[in-house]
Amino acid sequence: FGAPCPQVAVEGEIVPADEARISVHANALSYGTGTFEGIRAFWNAEHEQLYLFEGAAHYQRLHRSARILGLPLRFSVDELVAMTHDLLRANDVRTDAYVRPLLLLSGEVLPVRMHDIDSRLSIAVTPVVGDYANPSGLRCMVSTWRRASDASTPIRAKVIGSYVGPALAKTEAVRAGYDEALMLTGDGFVAEATTANIMVRFGKTWSTPIGTDDILAGITRQQLLELIPEITTAKVDERRVHRSELYAADEVLLCGTASIVSSVVDIDGRRIGSGRPGEQALRLRHDLQAIARRQTTQHQEWTTAVYEK
Ligand code: PMP
Repeated sequence: FGAPCPQVAVEGEIVPADEARISVHANALSYGTGTFEGIRAFWNAEHEQLYLFEGAAHYQRLHRSARILGLPLRFSVDELVAMTHDLLRANDVRTDAYVRPLLLLSGEVLPVRMHDIDSRLSIAVTPVVGDYANPSGLRCMVSTWRRASDASTPIRAKVIGSYVGPALAKTEAVRAGYDEALMLTGDGFVAEATTANIMVRFGKTWSTPIGTDDILAGITRQQLLELIPEITTAKVDERRVHRSELYAADEVLLCGTASIVSSVVDIDGRRIGSGRPGEQALRLRHDLQAIARRQTTQHQEWTTAVYEK
């Protein structure tokens, strides 16, 4: 990441970041009462254009998260996309970037509750320098921390406080010498990585945990459900995936907004496939990046142009 951009949007107004302060008494700081999104924008040097990737899908999910938490969100999906375009232009962003919308209980209210507390929507932008993904593939460990279940915290909403478990899992994995953690559900099935979904391939079939089980069914995962049958000879199904399948798979990939598609080459010290990034994952990553940068005619409906020409 580069340094955060100087202008941010607060409740629809573009203001300097140091005027967009939140109180140490804000309810969300103590209890994680809020929700967020992570969106990418990609710079195409040839077009001299910045493309927002799946802005509408991310803001639809923010609306769903807000409904689940019972938080008011006064702006429509279209208004939020337009606001994000305005903000990227106000910061004159001409590199890849990461956009972070945040809707949180900013009111200075001490009790734990969701109702009758002021909320605030902000959007911030950070340039992305270089590539997020590890080109030689990721080494993962199955975490001792389990994915929270929808019975305890709403897992379909991107709730701020829900990320403590993934943060602990990530630190556990990194301290043990791995790149990333894979989390199981409470009953021991494969759920997802800390901020990405997972897919495993056996021969001509990719499998991924069921979207309605205890995972955040991501937007990149949904894109791959469409793209895999379009650009490979494989098919893809949603089913329960067992831990032992991870070790036996021909290929394992992680998918999410931040790193798009990454290959997993090792899990718990066992080599996956050839031990090098799998061919299909590389192809999917390449094609999805080309779509995100509008270097292809495929799926142009997933990108919107930020600068007017
Ligand atoms: N799972 C979790 C827990 C996440 O935080 C993310 C990132 N939003 C994902 C999966 C991947 O979702 P997406 O493709 O929408 O970024």
